[in-house]
Amino acid sequence: MQRDHPLKDLNTWGVGGACRTYDSPGTAQEASESVAAALKQDLSLYVLGGGSNVLVSDGPIKASVIHTEKLNFIKLRRSDNCENIEIEAGAGVSVKKLLALTIEEGLGGLEFLIGIPGTLGGALWGNAGADGCGFKGLIKEASGVDWNARTIRLGEDLFEWKYRSCPVDEKKVALITSCVISLKITPKDLIFKNVKRFAGMKKGQPLGKKTAGCVFKNPPGMSAGRLLDECGCKGMRIGGAVVSASHANFIENDGDASSLDIYKLCELCREMVLKLHGVDLEYEIKFLGNFKKD
Ligand SMILES: Cc1cc2nc3c(=O)[nH]c(=O)nc-3n(C[C@H](O)[C@H](O)[C@H](O)COP(=O)(O)OP(=O)(O)OC[C@H]3O[C@@H](n4cnc5c(N)ncnc54)[C@H](O)[C@@H]3O)c2cc1C
Repeated sequence: MQRDHPLKDLNTWGVGGACRTYDSPGTAQEASESVAAALKQDLSLYVLGGGSNVLVSDGPIKASVIHTEKLNFIKLRRSDNCENIEIEAGAGVSVKKLLALTIEEGLGGLEFLIGIPGTLGGALWGNAGADGCGFKGLIKEASGVDWNARTIRLGEDLFEWKYRSCPVDEKKVALITSCVISLKITPKDLIFKNVKRFAGMKKGQPLGKKTAGCVFKNPPGMSAGRLLDECGCKGMRIGGAVVSASHANFIENDGDASSLDIYKLCELCREMVLKLHGVDLEYEIKFLGNFKKD
């Protein structure tokens, strides 16, 4: 376990200070020991994957961070006369690597992951997806650690899939260490066609900029980006944080933003939508550390 570990390079916004303690377990057993060690301290426990959906506060951050990057194994389980193949993968596996492997092996089902950064664990925890497609129906089981630092197995029946919501009971599960995904053997031309379709939906997003994807969830039947756009949010700036000119639901760090700049800009956008449209936008991004409005 390390002390005062900087988190700035561990999130896609490239902001934030140092956390009080940091651990990076490589196995489920080590993860359970990391949780046990974190729970002994008077600090909150935070699990960090690829940091592509989280705003890390400027710090110092009074938290124990468990980083999943070393939980990165992938196993393929084939059976001769079966249409499905199971992949068991660690929570820290990058979704980019996972998608590349499934394309290579001719396995369909994960094409929706194209263009989504981060890890398998983070994608599962936030039920990441695109155009209504996601992990629902593909996850057979998962392994994790509970809040008593015991390793646990989560059967398919324990997952509840709702739009961008954690599919497992957060009061019971402290972190996911791995999962088993069942994928169909699929003609490669069909996989490529699907990948192309999902990639096409990313047009208009500020790719290559420092962002954390969509800041707000889409309210039922509405587009958060459109609501923000109609309020004139595009181009609004606080310090080094700016609302993307190409997609109003993305906030960019244009070089020297502090985490507080980003937070204040998010809150300002939220207030504007509430005032103009009467819609209280819900955050899609998660928060690590303390954010107090001043
Ligand atoms: C350019 C860009 C495009 C994006 N496009 C999309 C998109 O199309 N669809 C979409 O859904 N998202 C999108 N995102 C958001 C983000 O990439 C996803 O939410 C991603 O799945 C988050 O994974 P992560 O590993 O980075 O998680 P983090 O950001 O590290 O964590 C996110 C949350 O998951 C928790 N967590 C992470 N790993 C674990 C674990 N193993 N166990 C328990 N909890 C865990 C964290 O505590 C945190 O609450 C985009 C982001 C960017 C920057």
